[in-house]
Amino acid sequence: MADIIVQGLTQNNLKHVTFQIPKEKITVFTGVSGSGKSSIVFDTIAAESQRQMNAAYPAFVRSRLPKYPKPAVERIDNLTASVVVDQSPLGGNARSTVGTISGLYASLRLLFSRAGQPYVGPASSFSFNDPNGMCKTCSGLGKITKVKVEAILDVDKSWNQGCVKDSLYRPGSWYWKQYAQSGLFDLDKPVKAYSSEEYNLLLYGSRDGCGEPENPKVTGLFHKYTKTLLNRDISSKSRHTQIKSQNLIDEMECTDCHGKRLNEAALSCKIQGYSIADLCEMELTRLREVLEKMRDSKVGVLVETIIEGVDRMIEIGLPYLHLNRETPSLSGGEAQRLKLVRYMGSSLTGMTYIFDEPSTGMHPRDVYRMNNLLRKLRDKGNTVLVVEHDRDVISIADYVIDVGPEAGQNGGQIVFAGNYEELLQSDTLTGKAMLRTLPLKQKPRKPAGSLPIRDACLHNLKHIDVDIPLGIMTVVTGVAGSGKSTLISKVFASQYEKDIVMVDQGPITATNRSTPASYLGFFDEIRKLLARENGKQESLFSFNSAGACPVCGGKGVILTELAFMDPIVTECEACQGVRYNEEALACTYKGRNIVELLGLTASQAMEVFDEPKIKRRLNVMRQVGLSYLTLGQPLSTLSGGERQRIKLAKNLGKKGSIIVMDEPTTGLHMSDIENLLKLFDTIVSRGNTLVVIEHNLDVMKQADWIIDIGPDGGNKGGQVVFTGTPMEMVSTAETLTADSLRGSCS
Ligand code: ADP
Ligand code: ADP
Ligand code: ZN
Ligand code: ZN
Repeated sequence: MADIIVQGLTQNNLKHVTFQIPKEKITVFTGVSGSGKSSIVFDTIAAESQRQMNAAYPAFVRSRLPKYPKPAVERIDNLTASVVVDQSPLGGNARSTVGTISGLYASLRLLFSRAGQPYVGPASSFSFNDPNGMCKTCSGLGKITKVKVEAILDVDKSWNQGCVKDSLYRPGSWYWKQYAQSGLFDLDKPVKAYSSEEYNLLLYGSRDGCGEPENPKVTGLFHKYTKTLLNRDISSKSRHTQIKSQNLIDEMECTDCHGKRLNEAALSCKIQGYSIADLCEMELTRLREVLEKMRDSKVGVLVETIIEGVDRMIEIGLPYLHLNRETPSLSGGEAQRLKLVRYMGSSLTGMTYIFDEPSTGMHPRDVYRMNNLLRKLRDKGNTVLVVEHDRDVISIADYVIDVGPEAGQNGGQIVFAGNYEELLQSDTLTGKAMLRTLPLKQKPRKPAGSLPIRDACLHNLKHIDVDIPLGIMTVVTGVAGSGKSTLISKVFASQYEKDIVMVDQGPITATNRSTPASYLGFFDEIRKLLARENGKQESLFSFNSAGACPVCGGKGVILTELAFMDPIVTECEACQGVRYNEEALACTYKGRNIVELLGLTASQAMEVFDEPKIKRRLNVMRQVGLSYLTLGQPLSTLSGGERQRIKLAKNLGKKGSIIVMDEPTTGLHMSDIENLLKLFDTIVSRGNTLVVIEHNLDVMKQADWIIDIGPDGGNKGGQVVFTGTPMEMVSTAETLTADSLRGSCS
């Protein structure tokens, strides 16, 4: 097997590097964040492989495939077809479940059509996405959703006062006119004064509420919202839109099928007393037990393959899921593991599989299991590439490529390549950090009070009581699926909504032109400096104001709209994409114009700016491990971990707040984690409270207090199995987390 050979790679920050990757081995890419790992693995190897595969299709098909730009590289040899297994959400809608995505539901349908009694067959009769099988009342969704009338209408107002809350319908707008100019409504009468006929007309489009619409242009508002909110897949919309939509609908279990999604015929068909819906409600561990008893029937071979599939899901650390779980509710880590399971079942060999921090969201116990799956994937004759920071995952590497020495312009080189034992001897940040673990906290802080959670019972939580201490750093631990996020990000966060700052990995709700400089609030300072230095107005240094390039209007690109197709985006020739006009670009501060200043990384900018206000913010970027970002990098290009840390940076100045974070170490190198812990220490000393969900053992060791949820995942979890200091955990606790912590102290 000839190695993959990459020669003269200069993509992003890479410094004309040349290296080889062995085939049919596990190669782990290490290095601090921003060093260039993703630039190698995703922007070069994956992109080039996909690009060449796409090039094999006819032009018509190609125009519909995602575009992969050619990476900046002299030559790549011996690439194979590649599959990226990342943490992007699985998407889909309420019809997409763990069962449909994993393929296990299709196998169960086949099983029931062959062995179920009474005989129903064909297999499509068991599909909730098929008219043959679906419950008619809920169309196979298992739940009924209704638009909340009070959420869309303000009944105290008239049309002229804007009775529809949605800003699309503000008086004078196009939507408003459709109704106001229909002649059907008294525009000055508040909705609450409507007769029942008028009210029906408004909501349902007809006077009796069910007949033909009075005026085809005036669909009832209720129908209109039902169409836009319920009958459409909104999972690809922004989180903001999703939350907004959620607030407008009421959801309840279907009164007919009670959430089972299927019609009576399908539900009456059983094997050993279980319907297909019963099996889909069971946690996978329980499902396996039930399937085990069906093994020796006449469909034994089919049962066998289903059990194999279930086993793969259990092995990868998803034993607590059930097949009826909707995929949009899975976390990024869970989605990635589910994708991995799909590929494990495939018989393709000779592929290159690429993973992005697969340990995310995993307890050390789960990491151990996942490592075995990665090995199996390799042993089937595949090449496995992994970007990772976790010591345990790095330790299974056949080959390690360490990128560094540092981030951004100070990175971009291969500082080490060799096997795991050689890495431990190497004099690189990664090699040294592998051997260094942090000590247990000797003097944990005492809490300044606490916030009680009582009788928490959401999802798998078993009516638990727990106190969240104030003024110290608490780490919440437990295996995947034990209930950590449910307890902290859902129950605790909603109970104390007004007091808590959630610093999560979700998208940043700012405009898509946001950058670190604007988001952290020092872009204005930079503009002031330029204005003062050059005797101009500040607005000249803003591309959505006086500084805008006249040709593209400050967009940097020109959009050519095409009917029925995505618009064509080309770089603006006048400003070459930099968005500013010539007058703005002619002004400089210390020899650099606005674009050049925004092109500096935070660490380079430290050398350039003297202003204390700017310096303070740059220092904050360094503290959260983001000094390699340029001041002008669009926030939309940040990874989940980077987004979480820049949100943390924004909230750092505060005092007396309660900051909640879910896995803040995601995407961080071991040496960055030490810096993050120092920062946590500073945050807490300033009088703030920190509550973090974490699997990283170094973070647990440095906690003031640990709350361990378990004992295991799903139904077997949901209890508080330990609370105390790290020292107490190591000396007395008998939990899976305590075992791992003890293991890392020896
Ligand atoms: P890692 O995966 O090691 O965290 P990356 O490969 O993502 O690092 O980034 C390496 C450097 O390249 C960083 O300085 C980053 O800001 C820069 N970079 C990453 N993506 C882009 C991009 N699309 N355009 C310009 N610079 C980028
Ligand atoms: P952890 O954060 O410890 O990994 P979670 O709080 O995500 O665990 O999950 C705890 C349990 O609750 C699991 O059994 C999980 O499947 C279930 N669960 C989590 N989110 C949902 C949801 N949106 N719908 C149904 N069950 C859920
Ligand atoms: Zn139903
Ligand atoms: Zn322009």
